[in-house]
Amino acid sequence: MKKKEINSSRVPVYRDSGFELFDADTISNAFKKETDNEREPDLYIYSRYRNPTVVSAEEEIMKLEGCKWALLTQSGMSAIDTAVSIFQNGKNTRPWLFFTEIYGGTLSYADAILKKRRGLDIHSFNPVNGRYDIADFELVIKSLKPEFVYIETISNPLLIVSDVIQVIEIARKWNSKIIVDNTFATPHLFKPLDHGADIVVHSATKYFSGHGNLTAGVVCGNDNFIMKSAIEYRKFIGHMLSPDDAYRLQTQLQSFELRFTKQCENASALSEMLANNQLINKVYFPGLKTHETHSEALKLFGDKGFGAMITFDFSGKDADVKRRRRGEFIRNVSSKIKLIPTLGDPHTILMPVEPVWGAKYPEPGMIRLSIGFEKYEDLSGTVQKAIEQIK
Ligand code: PLP
Repeated sequence: MKKKEINSSRVPVYRDSGFELFDADTISNAFKKETDNEREPDLYIYSRYRNPTVVSAEEEIMKLEGCKWALLTQSGMSAIDTAVSIFQNGKNTRPWLFFTEIYGGTLSYADAILKKRRGLDIHSFNPVNGRYDIADFELVIKSLKPEFVYIETISNPLLIVSDVIQVIEIARKWNSKIIVDNTFATPHLFKPLDHGADIVVHSATKYFSGHGNLTAGVVCGNDNFIMKSAIEYRKFIGHMLSPDDAYRLQTQLQSFELRFTKQCENASALSEMLANNQLINKVYFPGLKTHETHSEALKLFGDKGFGAMITFDFSGKDADVKRRRRGEFIRNVSSKIKLIPTLGDPHTILMPVEPVWGAKYPEPGMIRLSIGFEKYEDLSGTVQKAIEQIK
């Protein structure tokens, strides 16, 4: 078939593994230029290096984060691996500091891969009574002088909001880079790069994709040197996203603001309803005045919402009663709210906390809800009825 321009307004799915480079001079020039590690090359060479469908999906994310570059990877974990690994510099690598209320997979990666396999000097910073003490953080960073600090805007499952603005200020003052996992807050609520963060990462599997049907990650930033390092790392480690997933992600990103706005609204309304129920001991939702980091949430998010995750636990005279209530609730909602170990799906889904996190969070009746964008009346009706049916 003769090649011709097609009048489509979209960048199609380019499934080419390698691209046609015509002659010896063209390929020689393309490989010479490749060492510049540009985000969008003049000539594509090989899809593990760069792919036009992926580049076009990255542009959608750059618009959302308001940043100079975004690099898609095949999972949130590979985005995190890329973001941190570019600061590894042989024997000269300074310590790396991780806030500890972060995704469990990231904590395990830091311990099992970075510390035990790569032998890196990994440190952690803990919250006290559900909040990070910023004065204490400054003391730690001053004595440790870490290469970078790694933090999440909203933590999981207690939904602790960190004062990322202050953390960035302090990190910069002590000459440390700052990497923010912004998966739970999304750029709809907060843009860490606007406040001077060096790198933002997302599990795009969650709200960016928003339909529970693909796995992807993204590394975003403004600094050109960091971008080139990340492009080089992604290329040689092979963390590139597939063009099919990039195409679907790009399409689904078009409804991100609409979906996430509705998810935040549903979550705020349901958190109030749960907080007023006698059978519930505590609701962890940063929009509630009772949440330990409500003031941080107001400072960072203003009136844009408080995210779409809610954690709560059942009251009861002992652990067995709390566990029984948790089990009954999960059974009672199961036709509408499924137990699925992810978040950011169209429908509300749940996870019991104890079977996943063990004794880390001592309330055995705890459940984490990822709120969807279904009709609020359907959601609240399902939850209300399920609680009423608990014996
Ligand atoms: N960051 C956060 C906050 C997460 O919740 C997750 C996964 O749940 C990840 C990163 C890892 O993302 P992925 O599962 O897409 O690799």
